[in-house]
Amino acid sequence: MNVFSHPEFDNHEHLSFFCDPETGLKAIVATHNTSRGPALGGCRMFPYATDEEALRDVLRLSRGMTYKSALANLDLGGGKSVIIGNPRKHKTEALLEAMGKHLESLGGQYIAAEDSGTSVPDLKVMGRRTQHVAGIAERIGFDGQPSSGDPSPATAYGTFIGLKAAVRHKLGRNDLKGLKVAIQGVGNVGFRLARHLKEAGAQLWVYDIFADNMQRAVDELGATPASAGDILHLPVDVVAPCAMGAVLNDESIPQLKATVVAGAANNLLERPDHDQALKDRGILYAPDFAINAGGIIDVFYERNGASPETVRAHVDTIGDTLMEIFTRADRSDRPTGAIANEMAEERFRKHTAHIEEIPERLTQVG
Ligand code: NAD
Repeated sequence: MNVFSHPEFDNHEHLSFFCDPETGLKAIVATHNTSRGPALGGCRMFPYATDEEALRDVLRLSRGMTYKSALANLDLGGGKSVIIGNPRKHKTEALLEAMGKHLESLGGQYIAAEDSGTSVPDLKVMGRRTQHVAGIAERIGFDGQPSSGDPSPATAYGTFIGLKAAVRHKLGRNDLKGLKVAIQGVGNVGFRLARHLKEAGAQLWVYDIFADNMQRAVDELGATPASAGDILHLPVDVVAPCAMGAVLNDESIPQLKATVVAGAANNLLERPDHDQALKDRGILYAPDFAINAGGIIDVFYERNGASPETVRAHVDTIGDTLMEIFTRADRSDRPTGAIANEMAEERFRKHTAHIEEIPERLTQVG
């Protein structure tokens, strides 16, 4: 297994491989870049078929967090961790505590939050052995409601703000009355996004692989149920993928009828060139890591005890960031995903440059 020459390595600052035979823990922690601050990112537990698969996943996810936090102007770096194992079979308190012990040994360069396969209670168990876990505090959330650390409400609200910015830019309208939106996946984020849209007067179509999730959106929000094959290709204004990645691909893009894609799922583009493919079809794509940053913003502020108003004000800036992406994309006739990457790099490389200047200044002083 290659590490430094791995195609996804991308100059990661630090990688650690943990093994604890007593509890069965096998984990990898990847810290991509800490120029803006400690690397914060989810701890995923998944039954990876090979070590190679786990390494590839953690490297890609970790890099993605650097971009997301930098674009959201957070003083955070990017990192991620994976535990190799089936969460339904292999997750024990002892294993989670062992993970906590290992996180502690990293001294805070990486801070773990929940991700698929781990939950807030799991992070609390890790927290018995380390202070470097986030997203677990009970407090009043950004929306004035009690929050147990679940970032989904902030992610859904940020996605709603971003979707409105995309509609304003592409369709030239400020209100969402009668706007037709198709949502793929009405889970924690998708359902809440649907509720925001309903309150703003939008018309909704939904599809979810779990019939009860779909039915809840139909019963509570008056959404129209759609099918797996149709949801992305309905004659609507906006498509909001909120389930899984890689749904914007060679097959789906030619069939899209919406002119705006604005959803919360990570890694929506199957390949980087699908960014250009969307532009070529005249479809405005709100880059996933820009629009779904509400959760990481919320988790960041949990750590310094900021007021709900501060958190909400920061989540609101997702709209401004997207407007800047759209404007720069129009001006340079380039696709929005490429512009978002460039803006994120400007934000974390500037900090890296600043850090690299320090030794020189110290030498001068000395
Ligand atoms: P979730 O598991 O609560 O919801 C996902 C929903 O999608 C579920 O209802 C599931 O049944 C449904 N689904 C799965 N496969 C599907 C398919 N093929 N077609 C239709 N529906 C399908 O997860 P979530 O927390 O709502 O996250 C949704 C997406 O947003 C994920 O991609 C996640 O990585 C991303 N995201 C979430 C957050 C957050 O704060 N929760 C933050 C950033 C990004």
